[in-house]
Amino acid sequence: MHSLIDTHCHLDFPEFADDLDAVIKRAFAAGVDRIITIGTSLGSSRAGIELASRYPNVYATVGLHPTSIGENTPEFIGELKELAQHPKVVAIGECGLDFYRLPDDDKPDLVETAFGSITLSGIETELRIDSLKAAQAAAFEQQLELAAQLEKPVVIHQRDSWNETFDLLKQYSVKAVLHCFTGGLAELSEVLALGHHVSFSGIATFKNAADVRAAARVVPADRVMVETDAPYLAPVPHRGKRCEPAYVRLTTEAIAKERGVSFESLARTTTANAERFFGLR
Ligand SMILES: [Zn+2]
Ligand SMILES: [Zn+2]
Repeated sequence: MHSLIDTHCHLDFPEFADDLDAVIKRAFAAGVDRIITIGTSLGSSRAGIELASRYPNVYATVGLHPTSIGENTPEFIGELKELAQHPKVVAIGECGLDFYRLPDDDKPDLVETAFGSITLSGIETELRIDSLKAAQAAAFEQQLELAAQLEKPVVIHQRDSWNETFDLLKQYSVKAVLHCFTGGLAELSEVLALGHHVSFSGIATFKNAADVRAAARVVPADRVMVETDAPYLAPVPHRGKRCEPAYVRLTTEAIAKERGVSFESLARTTTANAERFFGLR
């Protein structure tokens, strides 16, 4: 029987609250014998550790997602460092830059103040965007620094921020995976030049993702991993429904087909890479 590792999902999210046992059972039945649940905030990181303690084949990461930076105290990095000591914590992250979900410049933002509501002008919105980007970058750098210090790998979230992500990544001596890789060949070659890995999600099965498949065809066999990012991004034919770790098989099959290798052979490759990258035995 093949072995697969879902290197990135969110088992602590409310979408799994009612049937997590069944979800994990279905994953094992599909040959997904290890699952890495990813922290997005301090609360989520703690919840992930708790799940990893409960399920022998579940591992956790601890991190602060760029869209969650508002939820945490300035002391978050000290707490992450403490959480990272847990024996089942295999990486720092997910962390990074997400410039997709920033306030929209076209729509003026209504802001409630003590004097009633005011509308932010274009300039004010721009200032707010700049300060949000700076806050994301600061939290990202703190986590890169922590990963370097603890010699743990880093799981990186990137959206609409390739250049800025590469600029920061270059400054730290870490080993990283660009999770849910959505770039094309240009971004792939930059990731490879920096010595990092990519991980493909269900997006690789989407009709409109030819760029991502082009990258999946040529990525060297020692740099590729697979994930679901469940509960999001369910691969075809489940697209649009709740995703779960068992579906990592569908993404692996699709990429194997692109690469002209057997499913079993790609499963062996991606599993060996994940074991080495995350230090799983
Ligand atoms: Zn992400
Ligand atoms: Zn994620």
